[in-house]
Amino acid sequence: LDVMNNGEVAGQVIVLRNITLFHELNEAKTNFIATVSHELKTPISSIKMSARLLTDNRVGALNTEQQELTKSITEDADRLLNITSELLNMSQVETGNIQLKLQPASPAAIVEQAIQAVQFQAQQKNIVLRTNLPLDLPQVQADLEKTSWVMINFLTNAIRYSPDTSFIDIAAYPKDSKVFFTVTDYGKGIDEKYLPRIFDRYFKVPGTHERNGTGLGLAISKEFIEAQGGTIWVKSRIGEGSLFGFDLNTAHHDL
Ligand code: ADP
Repeated sequence: LDVMNNGEVAGQVIVLRNITLFHELNEAKTNFIATVSHELKTPISSIKMSARLLTDNRVGALNTEQQELTKSITEDADRLLNITSELLNMSQVETGNIQLKLQPASPAAIVEQAIQAVQFQAQQKNIVLRTNLPLDLPQVQADLEKTSWVMINFLTNAIRYSPDTSFIDIAAYPKDSKVFFTVTDYGKGIDEKYLPRIFDRYFKVPGTHERNGTGLGLAISKEFIEAQGGTIWVKSRIGEGSLFGFDLNTAHHDL
């Protein structure tokens, strides 16, 4: 009853109701984003497929201008696919709904799946992806899709911020019942003062005139890796390049 007579406390009750409403709206928004991004995937994929058929000369030879146009359609479709997959993953993260399919996975499979996804982008900039994977790497306990997604994100960024005609190094090595994965580029690097915020949602390094990024990729990557019990990190030096890495537990390490 004291509570009822106290204006301040009654005020707080109203605030709590608003918070509930806020959560409901937020959840509706998140579900909406999940549905829309999921629905967009299919038509965008088919645009990409059609453009790819044209590029591969399957329908007849294209002149230079037509080739340029179909290339740009493919690239833009790729960008849209990236954005939809980031939105979809972000909505999973926001609803605390990261569904992991943990199973023993080979580090080489994770790396190969990622390389396949970005090979085309790398070739466009004449970037060579070099791998350093010992043959006897132990399996990791991982969600193959989500971990490859993180690797693809590292590689897409590395390609984006590397100069034409350069190398990107991908490595994996075992240490203390974990496997460490790293992607090193020799591109523009990141100013030290921004490194603590690099895994924050929507964070983009100021002055990056990069129209393609959402600032979500690394935030989602961090959530995915930490949900699997791993850690994620970055080292970078402006003008020299960046190294992004994560580790995962080896399969059955606690048996
Ligand atoms: P985005 O989708 O914008 O790339 P990310 O979360 O993947 O978002 O990255 C956040 C920001 O970190 C980028 O906008 C970019 O400024 C910076 N960044 C990420 N990777 C690299 C890299 N390899 N080299 C330089 N800057 C990078």
